[in-house]
Amino acid sequence: MFETAIAGSLPKPSWLAETQKLWPQWKVEGLELTQAKKDATLLWIKAQEDAGVDIIGDGEQSRQHFVHGFLEQVEGIDFEHKVKMGIRDNRYDAMVPQVVAALKLKGRVHAMEAQFLRAHTTKKIKFTLPGPMTIVDTVADNFYGDKIKLAMAFAELLNQEALALQADGVDIIQFDEPAFNVYMKDAADWGVKAVERAAQGLTCTTAVHICYGYGIKANDDWKEKLGDEWRQYETVFPALAKSSIQQVSLECYHSHVPPHLMKLLEGKDVMVGVIDVASDTVETPEQVADTIGKALEYVPFNRIFPCTNCGMAPMDREIARRKLEALAQGAALARQRYAQKA
Ligand code: ZN
Repeated sequence: MFETAIAGSLPKPSWLAETQKLWPQWKVEGLELTQAKKDATLLWIKAQEDAGVDIIGDGEQSRQHFVHGFLEQVEGIDFEHKVKMGIRDNRYDAMVPQVVAALKLKGRVHAMEAQFLRAHTTKKIKFTLPGPMTIVDTVADNFYGDKIKLAMAFAELLNQEALALQADGVDIIQFDEPAFNVYMKDAADWGVKAVERAAQGLTCTTAVHICYGYGIKANDDWKEKLGDEWRQYETVFPALAKSSIQQVSLECYHSHVPPHLMKLLEGKDVMVGVIDVASDTVETPEQVADTIGKALEYVPFNRIFPCTNCGMAPMDREIARRKLEALAQGAALARQRYAQKA
């Protein structure tokens, strides 16, 4: 009951990469970088286990950014000539690589991280991949000329890697789709289908993460403009409820999402965001348990997985570690408090 997990990313130690940045530069290179990535992954496996988190991730210590980490292993992408592009409906500018030819995987993308993670914990492991629509929104297309075609091309590559991750022993494969909260109609029309294509043939648990982004200023400013009720999920959840995807990770604590929208996910496991990644204030176990209690009004107890609202990559490392503790302690408190519902 109430198994806990992180959404995906965790802060990188200062000896691995620049801190508190969304696109940080690595501090070392070559073999030294590979070793440093493994060391950082090991450190976060231990920190998650010590905190009492149930489902363990690699904290995305081996990728510079959650989308571009995947693209670095794709043929047909030009990383040499990045261009400036407004992403997430022009919410902020990013330097993005260009699609210049038909897409093909160069080989395995995340074999090292997944196998390393599997070798160093006996707990269930979750691995994250960017979703097709979010990838499309984070590259400049000079080849396909059609968003859906491009998304489906990425979905095929994601599927190849996802099947290989499953063979590596990954228990849950999660596709990150923050773009679903920006292009809601497109998400319902074809975004969910593209994720299903990416998850085709998987027998492990499949998940989609939809959020309001990292705790960076551009996102904070955007959220200010979204009003008192954030109803973006209302368009996408019915499409997800009908899909083959089994789990949905969503924002809850400190967001303006009406909690009753969780009802639209009937039949799905819900990874409920009980930790705010846009605030340095560490939640109390009571606050976490309260949020779980709120979710219980709309989601059966056996389908609730307390989680962070989003990744914690740009956060302070010690604050992130304490938030992991709050997550696990809050879930433990909720187990006591709501045991009669089980
Ligand atoms: Zn997120």
